[in-house]
Amino acid sequence: MSRTEATTQFETVIGLEVHVELSTETKMFCACRVTFGEPPNTHVCPVCLGLPGALPVPNRRAVEFAVRAALALHCEIAPVTKFDRKNYHYPDLPKGYQISQYDRPLGTGGYLDVPLPEGGVRRVRIRRLHLEEDAGKSLHDPRLGTLVDLNRAGVPLIEIVSEPDLRSPEEARAYLQELRNVMLYAGVSDVKMEEGSLRCDANISIRPAGSREFGALVEIKNMNSFRSVKQALEYEAERQRALVLSGERVERETRHWNERAGRTTPSRSKEEAHDYRYFPDPDLVPLRIDAEWVESIRRSLPELPAQRRARYEGLGLSAYDAAVLVDERPLADFFDACLALGADAKQAANWLMVELQGLLNEKGRELSATRLTPEGLVALLRLIEEGTITGRIAKEIFPEMVESGADPRSLVEARGLSQIADREELLRVVREVLAQHPAAVEDYRKGKTNALGFLVGQVMKATRGRANPGLANELVRRVLEE
Ligand code: ADP
Ligand code: MG
Ligand code: ZN
Repeated sequence: MSRTEATTQFETVIGLEVHVELSTETKMFCACRVTFGEPPNTHVCPVCLGLPGALPVPNRRAVEFAVRAALALHCEIAPVTKFDRKNYHYPDLPKGYQISQYDRPLGTGGYLDVPLPEGGVRRVRIRRLHLEEDAGKSLHDPRLGTLVDLNRAGVPLIEIVSEPDLRSPEEARAYLQELRNVMLYAGVSDVKMEEGSLRCDANISIRPAGSREFGALVEIKNMNSFRSVKQALEYEAERQRALVLSGERVERETRHWNERAGRTTPSRSKEEAHDYRYFPDPDLVPLRIDAEWVESIRRSLPELPAQRRARYEGLGLSAYDAAVLVDERPLADFFDACLALGADAKQAANWLMVELQGLLNEKGRELSATRLTPEGLVALLRLIEEGTITGRIAKEIFPEMVESGADPRSLVEARGLSQIADREELLRVVREVLAQHPAAVEDYRKGKTNALGFLVGQVMKATRGRANPGLANELVRRVLEE
């Protein structure tokens, strides 16, 4: 291979820094409530306003949530951790520093196994997980200028820094999805990227395929959905490739994702301009993390997404189906409730993923906004299984169950929808149908066997879907052969 050929093959290297807001009742260092969407500056106090003389007191619950998150990511928990001041000037940071953790983060050395879209798993190492406080929000008003809302100032955050183990924008998206799942299952955050309770900065570089050295990394900020993370990384990988191919160098810099333009642009960020001058916060003593406490938190963790997917695959679901259910926790909980009632795993999964999801997508609704119960779905599956109704009838009454929570047995009785499996009764219908379609009967006898399907269809229609399909098929064939 010639030199130019060899260097046209690049590998993309990505590492993510993710901030997750913890869903505690109160802020990290004061008693103000954690809220979203409230009138500006209504949840503030001397501590989170950074007034002189106010002293921070760590929120035990926030530390507990951070430990939960770190354990869910298989991190080591530091026996002693401490808080440091990260100094920079910005209007939404009233103290002039953010309380964060520098050299003794709460968690280190973890990993996240990310299921990849093309199958398989990528183990992404977690370098560190630390606790910090959020800044306020700057709102840029065209008439009034920049306004500052400090309701968010002091909200507890964890920052999760991955090693540069991701190899494509798609993998980065999958990592975020799985990280989101883990945080949700650990119960520490509502992780909504649209509301800013999950935020992500992405570091990306490229290198010649096979190279062991890393290229110069670019940090991308300002992405506000999983989709924009993927798009920004795709754009940036391509930009870097084009630079290198034209003989230029990639500059180490911070770039800003411009959603509307669909590209990244250089940004003169506060980060580059500054050395943060980290130093231990003299207002806060180091935290000793009790090992017993950590163990009790570990024991209280629920089944995590990876374990749940493995359990579902063990029940015979495909990896894809298992992932869809687990990614949608309320759906997975519903599925588990069906299993507990004795439902067949594949049948229940199929109804939830095909019929229910179809209805929900159609109406733009969530499962929680419906009246469907696990008992209802399991009763419906039982009606099909015992042959009381056909699958077609089940699909017909299902939307009503979702809408009103109606019991399928009562629906079937009230409307006379039970299956016709009685030979004599069905035979009468078959004879009538064949009498009405002499041309199709003629076709069949001339050897056009697909006329059979048509006639069976007519029997189903005549019985409004109540005929047992197998029996209908058998009887139509028998009468035709007479
Ligand atoms: P720091 O910001 O502490 O100096 P780094 O800049 O090394 O640490 O790492 C910050 C983030 O950038 C991490 O998520 C890491 O995985 C990622 N990263 C480091 N080097 C590269 C690289 N060459 N390409 C892509 N991402 C990288
Ligand atoms: Mg950094
Ligand atoms: Zn406060």
